[in-house]
Amino acid sequence: EVDKAHRASAAGEDAGGQPTIFSKIIARSVPATILYEDDKCLVFRDVAPQAPVHFLVIPKRPIPRISHVGPQDTELLGHLLVVAARTAQAEGLADGYRLVINDGKHGAQSVYHLHIHVLGGRQLGWPPG
Ligand code: 5GP
Repeated sequence: EVDKAHRASAAGEDAGGQPTIFSKIIARSVPATILYEDDKCLVFRDVAPQAPVHFLVIPKRPIPRISHVGPQDTELLGHLLVVAARTAQAEGLADGYRLVINDGKHGAQSVYHLHIHVLGGRQLGWPPG
């Protein structure tokens, strides 16, 4: 937990569930290149892209991590996946792409506001590191 708190703090978040940098992006108090928005989610380019195309799909409601979701989140999570796929298509990723959700310490999660990474535009390797 100490390690998580340390890393979360480095990402602009408080381990006690305070707003993260992504809440500020939703509020437009921190700038981002936004690709799509609706009442439930926001899509924007990752500031440190790991592939030619790398964007994040986040719920506006700040669920901290995928391991915290419950049955009440089923429809929202489905919506995030559909938006991820449609935005990938809009970004021209016809040869394929990868969706990633990092969870917690072993998953190397650094921002504790649930997000789906979408990576594409080059041949990706497997397994991930
Ligand atoms: P995680 O490691 O939690 O799965 O991914 C967090 C992602 O958020 C990282 O890929 C990181 O580059 C991205 N990120 C962190 N801070 C910002 C920011 O202020 N703006 C944007 N656009 N992306 C960010």
